[in-house]
Amino acid sequence: MSKWRDRRAADDPAQNIRQPCSICSETRGLSEHLTEVAFAAQFLGNTSTYDSEDGTAKIRTETIGDWLRLAAQLKTVEIDAWKFEPSAGDAFYCETVADSINAHGQHYTTHATALTRFVFVCNGLEEAYRFIDHLYSALSINNGVAKKNLKRTSSVRAVALLDDLFEKKGLSAAPRDFEHHCGNFIGLFNRYKSEHLVAVGGLDAGAEKLPTYALQLVRNLRNHVAHGTFPLAPPADYGGYEDSKELVLMLRHACRVAALYTQVILRWFSPGFESHEYNSMRNANGKEFDNFVEKCTLEHLLRMHLKGDFALHEGLFDCERNGD
Ligand SMILES: [Zn+2]
Repeated sequence: MSKWRDRRAADDPAQNIRQPCSICSETRGLSEHLTEVAFAAQFLGNTSTYDSEDGTAKIRTETIGDWLRLAAQLKTVEIDAWKFEPSAGDAFYCETVADSINAHGQHYTTHATALTRFVFVCNGLEEAYRFIDHLYSALSINNGVAKKNLKRTSSVRAVALLDDLFEKKGLSAAPRDFEHHCGNFIGLFNRYKSEHLVAVGGLDAGAEKLPTYALQLVRNLRNHVAHGTFPLAPPADYGGYEDSKELVLMLRHACRVAALYTQVILRWFSPGFESHEYNSMRNANGKEFDNFVEKCTLEHLLRMHLKGDFALHEGLFDCERNGD
């Protein structure tokens, strides 16, 4: 059993809630899933060139890994609701007031943790968009896209590249149970959208029927968070939104699907494992290294969210233990 399971984060769902379905119970916990994708991005060690109006930048898959690792390792972004209350020695609080202050602290700590994780995951995703951005111009020429219809930002260009991929390969290009996880997120997003009347933009007609729809919603949600329009309110018992727990859950599902799309991008647009770390394992002598290299493949990138015997974060030790 993985040691990660005990390291709970402030926004983890309550432990006594059982996994609701057989598919989700075969899926790694969110932190473990994120760390797997982080390791893969690091072991790939690919680079590409990103041209924008601000100049040319070198993009590294390692940077995707850095952000996802932070997201995976995040435990708590703590909000101290007592911080500017007069100190306990100077003031007396009746129980009701103290309860209220504690409840606010806990509530905002949960939100701050979930929002911070989502921002870190989105930063990784943005780097993944930039990683494949150089492929967009060839695609738009191939498809005869008129100049006025060219997509302008790396996030919507990535959607165009993924749409093309799914058109050619169908859902076999996606990780297992992709539709189930996207469906979970889309359901939560739809309730958020109707409850809070949020704006959703940048969608072409028919976008909701495509496998990239959940990614489009992640892009919109990221904008709501980045622009400060994401609903933030006190705990439900103190006049806040009734669905505030569900908002946190939606952020976590958004991280899940963002990681799945990152897996798709890395699986199909990476030239293969190029990092120094991976090469030194490939060149090393020993059964544990052979086992590792045999299992750590581009095909494996689509299975990283599934519980299984092989996990990149368990590294060589696990290969050795499972060896015969
Ligand atoms: Zn499920």
